[in-house]
Amino acid sequence: NNRAVATPTRTKEILAKYGFSFKKSLGQNFLVDVNILKNIIEHAGIQKEAGAIEIGPGIGALTEQLAIHSDKVVAFEIDQRLLPILEDTLQDYDNVEVINQDILKADVEEVIKEQFTSGQSIHVVANLPYYITTPILMKLLMDRLPISSLTVMIQKEVADRMAASPNSKSYGSLSIAVQYYTEAQVVMNVPKTVFQPQPNVDSAVLHLKMRNQPPVDVKDEDFFFDVVKATFGQRRKTLMNNLARHFKGQYDKEALQSYLDQIEIDPRRRGESLSMDEFAKLANILYQE
Ligand code: SAM
Repeated sequence: NNRAVATPTRTKEILAKYGFSFKKSLGQNFLVDVNILKNIIEHAGIQKEAGAIEIGPGIGALTEQLAIHSDKVVAFEIDQRLLPILEDTLQDYDNVEVINQDILKADVEEVIKEQFTSGQSIHVVANLPYYITTPILMKLLMDRLPISSLTVMIQKEVADRMAASPNSKSYGSLSIAVQYYTEAQVVMNVPKTVFQPQPNVDSAVLHLKMRNQPPVDVKDEDFFFDVVKATFGQRRKTLMNNLARHFKGQYDKEALQSYLDQIEIDPRRRGESLSMDEFAKLANILYQE
């Protein structure tokens, strides 16, 4: 077929041919705009010899463009009804592997070993199911997979939170969690009209470049993230109040005051003003082996 899957007419034909009905519970909003897809792939920075991992290929709109622009595509799709459709729409491409699995349960590291050549640069590119955006991204980041970047279409509000800087409205523990592993940037806002069916929320494309090393040295990662969460606990409260509540029974206000003095952080500040560096200092001084 010489028309891309991601055109409104071809998508309509494919859906009709298979009598496919969207499952809202699986976050099925398919892209019907080839230009948006090309932009996403450009922002992903994929080279022709690179590998691509897609989560949720749907009927293959993005998968097809990835097949054209990369060496190999491995796509995880949970909905079994889409398998025969994908076989049909992607029949012209011999470099696509569809895996019928829930991405949250998949052993992605093992799949990478099996499906890509060693040393191949690998990029995650996806129009994610919005109901599990954060769990999917946190799984991929925390598993410390050998991937170069992730470029994902997600709910705009979540993209803004993941890429936010200190002192902005969207800045919170999710910003720190994501930016601990990656350099995060919102690269594109996307109108609802490019989806079929149209979602209720606004969308954006987030580009995450994997870091080789975390930007800060922390003694204990779990403790660091605990402190970050505690600090953002009640946004309108001061750093001191949030810490005192969290460390009740362990550190009293006097002890906290002296630790904060040592690292030169004013206890009257709010969590949203602390940089990653300051969070690291705070966690490291409060940490007890
Ligand atoms: N990539 C297609 C596109 O852009 O047109 C479809 C994107 S749609 C927003 C999300 C896709 O993810 C759907 O095909 C849905 O069935 C699939 N999906 C939902 N939950 C999933 C999961 N846990 N694991 C893998 N795929 C999932």
